[in-house]
Amino acid sequence: MDRVTKKPRLATAWLGGCSGCHMSFLDLDERLIDLAARVEFCACPLTDLKDFPEADITLVEGAVANEEHLETIHEIRKRTKILISLGDCAVTGNVTAMRNAFGVEDVLNRAYKELATVVVGIPSGNDVVPKLLARVRPVHEVVKVDYYLTGCPPSADAIHACLVDLLEGREPAGEVKRFG
Ligand code: SF4
Repeated sequence: MDRVTKKPRLATAWLGGCSGCHMSFLDLDERLIDLAARVEFCACPLTDLKDFPEADITLVEGAVANEEHLETIHEIRKRTKILISLGDCAVTGNVTAMRNAFGVEDVLNRAYKELATVVVGIPSGNDVVPKLLARVRPVHEVVKVDYYLTGCPPSADAIHACLVDLLEGREPAGEVKRFG
């Protein structure tokens, strides 16, 4: 946050998760208005950006489950000063990693053949569905993470406290952990 004239840039990103962590972020409710006055929101899962922008802080929801996530998280890391793993899927793999007990082929067969009712068959090609990684990985196994906000999802209060601490130059307190 060394910009003098510009507001800190805040981004959020969504990898392999259910979007519940983003819903918790939206539960900041009126506090979002205060936050919007203090930061420039530069990316979220709804922004259709060709490249991930430079960000001072990025909250990343979800685990790294496929090749697209892998590429995205490396891109985010390159362009982000402070990267926060948002929620247990990003922190540990959590729900997303439940498939790690099975092989990729078994997972695809179950989803696209055994349980499919309308369109049956495994989509082919990375253009349709990004290729699944052999194992779902928490974000810190792939790139360096600066802070961890645990919970499924983390509470809006925890997210808010973490962001306010960082914006005011303090080390985040409470549930937030920092490793390394
Ligand atoms: Fe959803 Fe929980 Fe994972 Fe967040 S941590 S993406 S709420 S399952």
